[in-house]
Amino acid sequence: MPPDAAPAGPSPIPSGPLGRRASRGVLVSHGARQVRIGGDAPVVVQSMTNTDTADAIGTAIQVKELARAGSEIVRITVDTPAAAAAVPAIREQLDRMGVDVPLVGDFHYNGHLLLRDYPECAQALSKYRINPGNVGKGAKRDSQFAQMIEIAIRNDKPVRIGVNWGSLDQALLARIMDENAARAQPWSAQAVMYEALITSAIENAQRAEEIGMRRDQIVLSCKVSGVQDLIAVYRELARRCDYALHLGLTEAGMGSKGIVASTAALSVLLQEGIGDTIRISLTPEPGGDRTREVVVGQEILQTMGLRKFTPMVIACPGCGRTTSTVFQELADNIQTFLREQMPEWKKTYPGVEAMNVAVMGCIVNGPGESKHANIGISLPGTGESPAAPVFVDGEKVATLRGERIVDEFQAIVLEYVKKNYGRETANS
Ligand code: SF4
Repeated sequence: MPPDAAPAGPSPIPSGPLGRRASRGVLVSHGARQVRIGGDAPVVVQSMTNTDTADAIGTAIQVKELARAGSEIVRITVDTPAAAAAVPAIREQLDRMGVDVPLVGDFHYNGHLLLRDYPECAQALSKYRINPGNVGKGAKRDSQFAQMIEIAIRNDKPVRIGVNWGSLDQALLARIMDENAARAQPWSAQAVMYEALITSAIENAQRAEEIGMRRDQIVLSCKVSGVQDLIAVYRELARRCDYALHLGLTEAGMGSKGIVASTAALSVLLQEGIGDTIRISLTPEPGGDRTREVVVGQEILQTMGLRKFTPMVIACPGCGRTTSTVFQELADNIQTFLREQMPEWKKTYPGVEAMNVAVMGCIVNGPGESKHANIGISLPGTGESPAAPVFVDGEKVATLRGERIVDEFQAIVLEYVKKNYGRETANS
């Protein structure tokens, strides 16, 4: 270093995910609605129904609920002739209700027959999911796979070649195991399984291309149920190909376990730029709401700063300084209120999804955090004067007291939304 040169100072700390992996964009469309998976498109949230597809009305209602919650693509099981026959009716019912979300058919075992025998089903779907481990055995496997791909090509539909380690192609697994046995130092059973999953996905995609499918009509997935397994498999899959990737931890489980496992696995991969569409495979509690998987998918992407779907509520966890439940109720109420408004607000208040609302339990971090949010309220902790200052864009605008704090705060939020995100504001 020259004698008069200043010593190098610290560099700015970088933020955000690593660069997005390059992939071929795949268009999934229904009428004018086009959803792009991969390429430079934002990561897409999708979901799957758990109704009997043969029940066209029940399935259409659940698809509508999932779409209203923000699912950009919805997959439905197509497992029987009755289910295949119901698909056009489901599509028509959705169109009548003004729901244009693209539908994906999930096929196993008999997909080649159902797609052949029910051409209106093949046409009504926007994409087919094919599990190469479940298309047939022996000599039939290749011809039945080819039959499905040919129908997809004729109908100009993209496909997902979706490998799952619970239904891995046994012939392929045997081949990879034989290759492994011939190695001087055989790999572990786990490494052989990874190799079989990835090989199955890529070889079947290549086979689809040989049959005539374009590369930009193919999405791949390799689902497993272990977090470290999923990360290892997708890192390698991403390195070996440029197909768009569908990401999801299969059989993630129920409740917080399913949410945590999915979040842990997907966050690592998304941070590395891997993954073009996600599905969160939560097991709903009995009577639980299927839309939860959509909300969790959106929240993963939004909390990572990858997309914005709905205004975020920042709430402190509460502690011994706040013994009343008012602040928990307020946080819950505002969160629910904001999410419920979004289907309408998306149209009338563009940009509102970037808004932050803070709901804090006492004076320790309350005013500070509230000032950082677009709107914040700092509720009184135990022993504090029973007053809740409200901050808008960093300025204190009101102090709320008494029974009606929840309603009054909601009114302030609504007023802020109208003033800052209305179409007239956006156009001015
Ligand atoms: S803001 Fe107050 S109530 Fe909330 S966690 Fe911090 S100290 Fe506890």
